[in-house]
Amino acid sequence: MDRMRELVDKLNKYAREYYELDNPTVSDAEYDALYDELVEMENSAGIILPDSPTHRVGGMPLKKFRPYAHRQRLYSLDKAKDKNQLEAYFARVKKALGYVPAMTLENKFDGLTMSLTYENGELVTAATRGDGVTGEDVTPQARTIRTVPLTIPYKGLIEVQGEAIMRLSVFRQYNETASEPLKNARNGAAGAVRNLDPKVTAERKLDFMAYNVGYSDKEFKSQRQIREFLKQNGFQTDDLFIIIEDTSYVYNQLKAIEENRSALDFLIDGAVLKIDDLSLRQILGFTEKFPRWAIAYKFVPEETTTIVKDVVWQISRTGKLNPLAILEPVELMGATVKRATLNNILDIQKKDIKINSRVFIRRSNDVIPEIMGVSEHYENSVDITPPKVCPSCGSEVIQEGPFLYCANKDKCAPRLISEIVHFASKPCMDIEGLSEKTVEQLYNELGVDTPDKLYTLTKEQLLTLEGFKDKKAQNLLDAINNSRLTTLDRFIFALGIPGIGKKAAKQLAQKFKTLDNVMAATAEQIIEIDDFGSVMTDNTVNFFADQNNRLLIKSLLDKGIAFEKEEEPKEGVLSGRVVVLTGSLRNYKRSQAAEIIKDLGGEVSDTVTKSVNLVIAGEEAGSKLAKAQKLGIEIRDEEWFLKIIEENKKG
Ligand code: NAD
Repeated sequence: MDRMRELVDKLNKYAREYYELDNPTVSDAEYDALYDELVEMENSAGIILPDSPTHRVGGMPLKKFRPYAHRQRLYSLDKAKDKNQLEAYFARVKKALGYVPAMTLENKFDGLTMSLTYENGELVTAATRGDGVTGEDVTPQARTIRTVPLTIPYKGLIEVQGEAIMRLSVFRQYNETASEPLKNARNGAAGAVRNLDPKVTAERKLDFMAYNVGYSDKEFKSQRQIREFLKQNGFQTDDLFIIIEDTSYVYNQLKAIEENRSALDFLIDGAVLKIDDLSLRQILGFTEKFPRWAIAYKFVPEETTTIVKDVVWQISRTGKLNPLAILEPVELMGATVKRATLNNILDIQKKDIKINSRVFIRRSNDVIPEIMGVSEHYENSVDITPPKVCPSCGSEVIQEGPFLYCANKDKCAPRLISEIVHFASKPCMDIEGLSEKTVEQLYNELGVDTPDKLYTLTKEQLLTLEGFKDKKAQNLLDAINNSRLTTLDRFIFALGIPGIGKKAAKQLAQKFKTLDNVMAATAEQIIEIDDFGSVMTDNTVNFFADQNNRLLIKSLLDKGIAFEKEEEPKEGVLSGRVVVLTGSLRNYKRSQAAEIIKDLGGEVSDTVTKSVNLVIAGEEAGSKLAKAQKLGIEIRDEEWFLKIIEENKKG
């Protein structure tokens, strides 16, 4: 009982911070773990404390807002965290209905639920969910949201439900200049709507994603029809909307959506499955907290909290000192996280990060997590002080804007070493076996401080290094030797021009064709390239104008660096087509199909973007297919692909 009381109190405190103050002190993952523990305890003990959060929706409406009684109650969603829980849900539906009917699959937006009431085609009220029965009247705030229509063609009485969200691009931009950065886009959206000053809401440039209709004097038959209605009435709806006729593939589809989530411009914390037919929903009904006709499949959380143990300053290729937080190790998205980035000294100050404080960390894709803000300071929390001297060479540290640099940045060892590591890396000169450790040895023992010196190394020299025997030395020499024949874009990327990544290097190579042309290119010519702004252009021009860089390039060419011609795309039926493969093909592996597409003259892309003009969809195609549909890209199936292959064999 003591533990149960403790859990209820803790969860209620967290829920207040989350729902009422829009300022959580624990991550959703941490909250959910305690919540699940409480549910289990309640089930096994058969006791539920009267103030248990497991039987309540959301939080109390804030007094500062006028209360708004929803015409139709709003609910939370039941959750499944894995395949078993999902199957158990389908089994429950089957038991109740005799079969599992068609369901819709949508993204589960992580924002603030809002319900908009329209009468005579006009927005009359906007309210938060609150405890589901009574919400907060936030009409003036909602009116500032661009995607909340103020008038709609439908003239009846209707409640439209959806989520107020802050797009991630907007969130990042906001945080760049904000004096108090937001911890995440969810709090950003919730805090903006539940602020008495509508100007604050307007500044945060929120969006409203509509997904449901509550009370209505119009009859709807299905979720599909609701969505159509919302679209016709000018509401923004999400691109992802999949009809699931057969639930045997749904788990794979959920996994595909989860994998793709970092490509979205908004936060999702799962996906929602809803029974499409509204008459069937009536049979299933509701529990106290959620509808039985829907289930949210929760994705692995991207955020958690942990303690900052220390901050170290790492010197980068550009001589910049980057703060790196050393964390108390914590599990996040299936990996143990021990370090996180802190962008710069200003960012640390604005986020008020201190050593020994608990902080929120967020991870998307495989990149190193970022510290988003403070969860809690403690008595032993101390300010992070930037170094006065370079931790590597002891030179003075200079500050330029929010960034710190080693004053000796051109000659500081870690910088020279990381330049060589970059030069040798796979997408650059691809010198296999030249690890960072080996580069350090070459620098320290053999004085290799510029990439051209790699090409003068001898076997005798390498054999003097610790851990180098004949075979290892020969392998490295061979790899260095083989790297001499490269392509122009790899070479440009390898030079490490600030801000010029792999794609930009390729664009320079494609436009100017030869190294001489690239080196002689003017700013006017360079800025014409797509995505090249003034910074990238100036960096490129300045890099090639620098005498030391020109000498290095000359020295590299003298060592026998040569460029092979880019592989010309083949001519064929797919010439000029950028093709995405999605789902699984019955006859080919993905890699085989990609080769065939190239043989037929096409280019293969991994992601669906506007430049893609053909999608070949196999079985169980998920979010890529949905995105292609939204963008109006031509979609073909495997039969079509096989036909093209066959026809071109004959031809
Ligand atoms: P929920 O947010 O998990 O799910 C229900 C809500 O999902 C609905 O109310 C609806 O607004 C929303 N939703 C988003 N997309 C939707 C779609 N396409 N269709 C239908 N609905 C959609 O439920 P909840 O009860 O509001 O919140 C519980 C969650 O909040 C917990 O799982 C926890 O992660 C988080 N929480 C965190 C803290 C904290 O301190 N960090 C505290 C309390 C709650």
